[in-house]
Amino acid sequence: MHIPTKVKEEYAAKRRKNELLHERRVAEIYERIPEISDVDSKKLDLAFELGMKAYTASGEDYESEFSNTKAELAKLDDLKGTLLTAHGYPTDYLEPVYDCHMCMDKGFLPSDGSMCACLLNSIISYNYASSDIDNGECFENFDLSVFHNEKQRRMMSKMYDFSLNYANTLPHPEPLNLIILGSTGLGKTYLLNCIAKRAIVNGLNVIKITSYNMFDSILKSIRSDADMPDYISCDLLAIDDLGSEPFINNITVEKLFLIINEREAQRKPTVIASNLSKDDLQNRYDERIVSRLLTPKYNTVVLLRGDDVRLL
Ligand SMILES: [Zn+2]
Repeated sequence: MHIPTKVKEEYAAKRRKNELLHERRVAEIYERIPEISDVDSKKLDLAFELGMKAYTASGEDYESEFSNTKAELAKLDDLKGTLLTAHGYPTDYLEPVYDCHMCMDKGFLPSDGSMCACLLNSIISYNYASSDIDNGECFENFDLSVFHNEKQRRMMSKMYDFSLNYANTLPHPEPLNLIILGSTGLGKTYLLNCIAKRAIVNGLNVIKITSYNMFDSILKSIRSDADMPDYISCDLLAIDDLGSEPFINNITVEKLFLIINEREAQRKPTVIASNLSKDDLQNRYDERIVSRLLTPKYNTVVLLRGDDVRLL
């Protein structure tokens, strides 16, 4: 799983913050309970002496020195604990501070190097925050009662079940892509957000973007002679409002084809919502795109009909 730079920085900041807190606690205790400072100096001396003996003593002598030192260190630790408690501090007050004790704020478990749950959650939160998904729009908040027309409600109920199933089978849904067509105000963006959010919660890397913004970023990259933004490698690409993008000859169709084609080749799912009808699609884009978007082998195409719920 890709770890965004922002999340890496967050972990580094967390470690610095906790190191600083630990240093402050040590300084505070040394000032209030100087005996503990003495105990720590003794511990350091002991460790140093043992280190020296590792070079000079024979193997057997070192073994016995080692267990003696260990016993003395344990005694000193007990003394520290007693002193702390006597002054009203918890015994672990001078231990290193971690937000997550499982990974010691490194993000990976020391036992087997696998990713810690805390890092996974941070990545999910980050992906969610940066995905342009309206916070409240998710399957859990889906409300069929906004549809006043019974027929429309039945259709949306079916659509809800279908989208939920699609979202839960990501990143390997069958067919791969979902194309939602229909006029404005029928809940297309809402469904797109539900699917994208579920994918993020399931740990997938998601880009949800309007077609307008996607092409805006592509055009900027062309103008500044930079690499095209990466719309290929994410686990799910959710394009809202296809058809709202500026139409520029030799660019719009080419880039859209490139993105859809590359993602299909890599078996990466794409969800598209559009106000355009099948005829509009045919008129606006060329045959290659239309057949890519409408082929049943790769796409489920749904057409929503009904009244604009935002006007009701
Ligand atoms: Zn952790």
